[in-house]
Amino acid sequence: MRQSRTLIPTLREVPADAEAKSHQLLLRAGFIRQNTSGIYSYMPLANKVIQKIQAIIREEMENINAVEMLMPALQQAETWQESGRWYSYGPELMRLKDRHGREFALGPTHEEVVTSIVRDEIKSYKRLPLTLYQIQSKFRDEKRPRFGLLRGREFIMKDAYSFHSSAESLDDTYQDMYQAYTNVFTRCGLNFRPVIADSGAIGGKDTHEFMALSAIGEDTIAYSDESSYAANIEMAEVAEVVESETVEIKDMQEIHTPGVKTIEELATFLNISPSNCIKSMLLKADGRFVLVLTRGDHEVNEIKVKHLLDAGMIEFASAEEVVENIGTTPGFVGPIGLNPEIEIIADFSVKVMTNVVVGANKSDYHLQNVNLSRDTDHIQYADLRFIKEGDPSPDGKGTIRFARGIEVGQVFKLGTRYSEAMNATYLDENGRAKPMLMGCYGIGVSRTLSAIVEQHHDDKGLVWPLSVSPYDLHILALNMKNEGQVQLAETLYKDLQAKGYDILFDDRTERAGVKFADSDLIGLPIRITVGKRADEGVVEVKIRKTGDSFEITTDELSGFIEKQMKNLSTHS
Ligand code: ATP
Ligand code: MG
Repeated sequence: MRQSRTLIPTLREVPADAEAKSHQLLLRAGFIRQNTSGIYSYMPLANKVIQKIQAIIREEMENINAVEMLMPALQQAETWQESGRWYSYGPELMRLKDRHGREFALGPTHEEVVTSIVRDEIKSYKRLPLTLYQIQSKFRDEKRPRFGLLRGREFIMKDAYSFHSSAESLDDTYQDMYQAYTNVFTRCGLNFRPVIADSGAIGGKDTHEFMALSAIGEDTIAYSDESSYAANIEMAEVAEVVESETVEIKDMQEIHTPGVKTIEELATFLNISPSNCIKSMLLKADGRFVLVLTRGDHEVNEIKVKHLLDAGMIEFASAEEVVENIGTTPGFVGPIGLNPEIEIIADFSVKVMTNVVVGANKSDYHLQNVNLSRDTDHIQYADLRFIKEGDPSPDGKGTIRFARGIEVGQVFKLGTRYSEAMNATYLDENGRAKPMLMGCYGIGVSRTLSAIVEQHHDDKGLVWPLSVSPYDLHILALNMKNEGQVQLAETLYKDLQAKGYDILFDDRTERAGVKFADSDLIGLPIRITVGKRADEGVVEVKIRKTGDSFEITTDELSGFIEKQMKNLSTHS
């Protein structure tokens, strides 16, 4: 492609409102332009990258017998009402009405549509398993669209759905997808980890997220420094501690602690460690009140609480609700002498604490030397806290470390969540109707583009891995007024194109400095500069990633480029 004929609107300044490096660079290098918050146009260069990522995905899907189709983005409300998600999805679902007042949604995912199709078309176990996928724009009215393509309101997703007559078959496809996703992200040049994840609102059990490691990532990954264990911090299990030392059990005592509310204030006031205090928090789980206890220096993991209580929604009780249900103000709540109607759950680590301090359920008072095994009798213990750096890895191998990640993909075992709600059944060998088992698998294609940029750039601009680069080669004719340079550049452009390379040819009548700066910013893997030594038949070849540059004669050029391309494709 001739640069004079395409649209690459580069910017010299860093756009003021773009926080993420990928957002800044994609704007500056002319890859994207914003329509409005969370909605972008993919300019010609970004479109090329998207096509390359999609081609990789298509190859990997083909390999595991997943078949591509295309479903409507605009969907009638009735299908969503059948699954129940019309009512539970919340404000992220983009809803609209047609001219007759009928309600519609713009698809954020396609479980409903695909399940309705398969329900109508597949009747027998003989037609299962079946995996369908599509690549398409999705719509989610995100609360905080940000970081450019990383969290958009319209974004491109690859979504796949599999249908099965047995759990083993679902397991097989899940494994295939897991491997295909590993291949896709490896081929895209991403440094990533698959992590154990929470199934969230979509329902289901087994699920992994694929996290591109990046400081800007919104998720925290807990991983072992010695094994392959990695989990979203939401899901990382903490092993139960067994009591080690025996200490003298003391008598419980009430202490006056005026205005001392937080664990930090309490620890300072009593000159003890926060790990000798118990944090008591009143939560509301689907409307019922539950007291949750953790060690003072630990953080409660609401997802674990939600799972333990099998609750749809949990939130912290308001100050008014604390007063109403416990009879004291927040800061003095505790498990002793609590309203017996309130269930108490506690983290495992609380069980082995001795002579601890808790709120006295009386304003301005705490209790010290509390021993829960002696002083209470109705506490349920479970793993309820967030894992911490330095904790032992749950698989028993190594120590937990933290990293930040961008979720670029996720694989789910849905089970019968949708097939039961929407009556998608098949007839088994004995002619009995059974709900299909399902899996669903998503890749954020546009988010992946941004994640690649987060990992592959330098202070001059983008540094594309060859596999997803918009073009392979960038040919620069430095002086378009110099007949010899123009002719040589044109010849190389034609010859190398004929060899199958995808080339961007800077034939603009711009100054050399502008061409170099734009070229660095755009970041194609190999640059061929036709400049002063054109009449000797010598050009400069520069590798964007390493900065290495070579003076090469036109005779040697083709062989040299071939070698460099091979190098780049094995070391991306
Ligand atoms: P997140 O937790 O980041 O909101 P999600 O878990 O809700 O994402 P999924 O329903 O799993 O997203 O969607 C599949 C994939 O689509 C995600 O792994 C992610 O890569 C991508 N994706 C989801 N939401 C967005 C968004 N707002 N912008 C860009 N990509 C997105
Ligand atoms: Mg997800």
